[in-house]
Parts: sequence; structure tokens; C-alpha cells
Amino acid sequence: MLSLRDRVEQRLSGEVCHACIFRTSKGTCSLEAVRDCPILTRVDQIIDIVRRIDSPTMDPYIAALREAVCADCEMQKESGECPLRDKLDCALDDYFAWIVNIVDEELAVRG
Ligand code: SF4
Ligand code: SF4
Repeated sequence: MLSLRDRVEQRLSGEVCHACIFRTSKGTCSLEAVRDCPILTRVDQIIDIVRRIDSPTMDPYIAALREAVCADCEMQKESGECPLRDKLDCALDDYFAWIVNIVDEELAVRG
């Protein structure tokens, strides 16, 4: 049986990565040469956020994402703005509701 982290990582690399706007027709990541994947480099933080929060709305999850990930991200400005987020160019932010749902499902299997 895979660990929770491995299961989540496997689903993110499969489901989300395959549908990601940065995925090329050759199955590679167009971000690869530019910067690290914002999702696959934050698996631990994402799991921690979903573990800590139990809410029917996304607001608390998004607030936790800003605090636990965006605050340390080199892309976010001191003002709290993020040019990538504003242009829907951060895959983590774009697919965050889906990602939360995946982690929730895996936590329900065996948290
Ligand atoms: S940005 Fe991340 S999730 Fe998107 S295609 Fe690249 S590796 Fe996959
Ligand atoms: S939304 Fe911006 S600050 Fe947050 S993880 Fe994505 S790129 Fe970084």
C-alpha cells in the first residue's frame, strides 16, 4: 500500500498534470526550462493544508495556500500580488479546488 503522500503525488502527476495548461502535446511540461512545477514541488504543504481544514467552501483553503505557499514563493510581490496568479498562469492556483478534492479523497481512504 502506497503512503498518502505517494498516492497524492501519483494522482497529481497523473490527473492534474495531464490536464494542465502547461502540458505539451508531447507529454512534457512547457514550464520545465523556466521554473519548477508549482504543484509537484508543494505536495507536502498541500497535504498539510487539506489535513488542517475542513470547510464546505474554498475560502479557508485559499487563505491557507496564500499563507503556507504563496508567502514563500518568489513570484509573489511584497504587496501580496502575484502576476502569475493574476494571469491564471500558476497551475497550483488554477487547479487548487481540484487538488484539494484529490487530497480529501485520499485522506478519506486512509488519512
Ligand atoms: S506545471 Fe506541473 S502540473 Fe502542469 S504540466 Fe508542468 S509538471 Fe505538470
Ligand atoms: S499563486 Fe503565485 S505566489 Fe502563489 S504559488 Fe502560484 S506563483 Fe507562487
